Amino acid sequence: MVMSDIRDAIAPPPAVQVLDLFKQFGSLQVLQGINLKIMPGETVCLLGPSGSGKSTLLRCINWLEPPTQGQVIIHGTPIGQRQVGNRTVPMSTPELSQMRTRISMVFQHFNLWPHLNVLGNITEAPIHVQKRPKPEVKAEAEALLQKVGLYDKRHIYPARLSGGQKQRVAIARALAMRSEVMLLDEPTSALDPELVGEVLDVIRSLTQDGMTLIIATHEMKFAEEVANRIVFMDKGHIIEETSPQIFFTRPQTDRARQFLERYVYA
Ligand code: ADP
Ligand code: MG
Repeated sequence: MVMSDIRDAIAPPPAVQVLDLFKQFGSLQVLQGINLKIMPGETVCLLGPSGSGKSTLLRCINWLEPPTQGQVIIHGTPIGQRQVGNRTVPMSTPELSQMRTRISMVFQHFNLWPHLNVLGNITEAPIHVQKRPKPEVKAEAEALLQKVGLYDKRHIYPARLSGGQKQRVAIARALAMRSEVMLLDEPTSALDPELVGEVLDVIRSLTQDGMTLIIATHEMKFAEEVANRIVFMDKGHIIEETSPQIFFTRPQTDRARQFLERYVYA
């Protein structure tokens, strides 16, 4: 065994590993061979112009969109498909639901259930998908609501919350599943400017707690501050993958420079 093999054998598996991922919608090639490895506790910001494939990549990572080709592995376990003997078969819906509780998603438009109050939104998946005991789940949900500053709203229905409050509930809901990885797709871009800060504060606290986060965002200052790594996409490819220090001061490609001129120096 050489040194690097020994290191690989004792290293924890990546939180997320994306292998040679392609996604096509009809004749439109949206993701064209994505490879990405994210270690536990890392915060990765996904940047790129509109239409570059950021949302599709996040949706493929938790198999909301089955990729046309490629694999996604969450802490050593493939999502979406499994081996039966030497055949690969698609996961059943319950298997997928279980898997998705390990890799939760926070959407631009919150996607709260309108017929459930705040507590109901947060406890639904832990009770019904993860089959955890109700009293434990409820106590944890209340603690999470304290954390995101919404304990007082626990009996309110989503229609009566502001956008910033809805997004904080969505984040608490994702945390309640005790998921290992959280995917956030432009979590602040549907918010009024004055509500952005309260949501970024909550996300910042998750990075400090050591959560593994993949965040598609156009909040450049925030990305520069919280990201361990910037992944810059264009036309379905990753074209830069580097530290925020380098990305924001010395981007390596013309495409990234043009992008930064539009978003950061505008
Ligand atoms: P981004 O999040 O970077 O703006 P998206 O992943 O949303 O990019 O979109 C990438 C491309 O894929 C766009 O051209 C978009 O129109 C297309 N696309 C996304 N979802 C679908 C879909 N369900 N059906 C067809 N085309 C889609
Ligand atoms: Mg998008």
